[in-house]
Amino acid sequence: MILLNDEIISKENASINIEDRGYQFGDGVYEVIRIYDGCFFELEGHFERLVRSAKEIHIDLPFDQATFTKKVNELVERNNVSNGHLYMQVSRGVAPRNHPFPSKAEPVVVAYTKEYESNETPPPGKAMFTEDIRWLRCDIKSLNLLGNVLAKEESKKQGFDEAIFHRGEIVTEGSSTNVFMVKDSVLYTHPANQFILDGITRRAILRAAEDSGITTVEKAFSKSQLLESDEVFISSTTQEVRPIIEVSGNQIGSGTMGDVTALLQKEFKKRLPKADS
Ligand code: PMP
Repeated sequence: MILLNDEIISKENASINIEDRGYQFGDGVYEVIRIYDGCFFELEGHFERLVRSAKEIHIDLPFDQATFTKKVNELVERNNVSNGHLYMQVSRGVAPRNHPFPSKAEPVVVAYTKEYESNETPPPGKAMFTEDIRWLRCDIKSLNLLGNVLAKEESKKQGFDEAIFHRGEIVTEGSSTNVFMVKDSVLYTHPANQFILDGITRRAILRAAEDSGITTVEKAFSKSQLLESDEVFISSTTQEVRPIIEVSGNQIGSGTMGDVTALLQKEFKKRLPKADS
């Protein structure tokens, strides 16, 4: 079953108009929300980020928080999802193709769920650097993901697990993740500004680090600082806290998961919802 606007219907009965601006212009925003033991992780944070992204591109969301919460929970229940995620997108709506905003278009909402085969965090991975060619509003979770898709595909072709973006010398984020590094037991990540998406996982990690007495610094760092760091990891809703042990052929630290990363992985997991709690 899927959610189309405010109705839960079977996927086979759903149709998207070819003049949907999400389809033609990537004119919309989205969220991916993790489900653990049938419960959402950080649902409120995702809702607030969706509201912000929509506002930044002048879309009025056609639901409030209560309706959103009710509908997404209903969908998870109907699909009997245990561990997986919910994808939701909101486009500006349907109108004859023309760049200016249509005067009469209702936003189109689509949501569906995916069940995971395994709940395991992906194993330590390897990444490559790539120039960040994206636009200057990466803080908006927009449907336009071409820059991200091209970078991810290139990293995959070259046998890497992630592409780490840099603007000149400055490391921004991964193609679908945030990037952290640890140097002398201090945790660094790019500040949440227009150059990165402020990840829900990123925020949870920063809170977990602070609660664990780890010093956190939200400050841009360079490619060479990253290569000389003790530990690197990436974070996202789907990959959680994933160690990166090599970047563009350079080993990071000891070439295995570092102590701070291991601690944060453990602390992060402690914060995940459990059906019996
Ligand atoms: N940056 C980018 C570019 C992403 O696509 C994602 C995943 N959507 C993230 C960071 C991580 O965000 P989150 O932790 O909310 O999944």
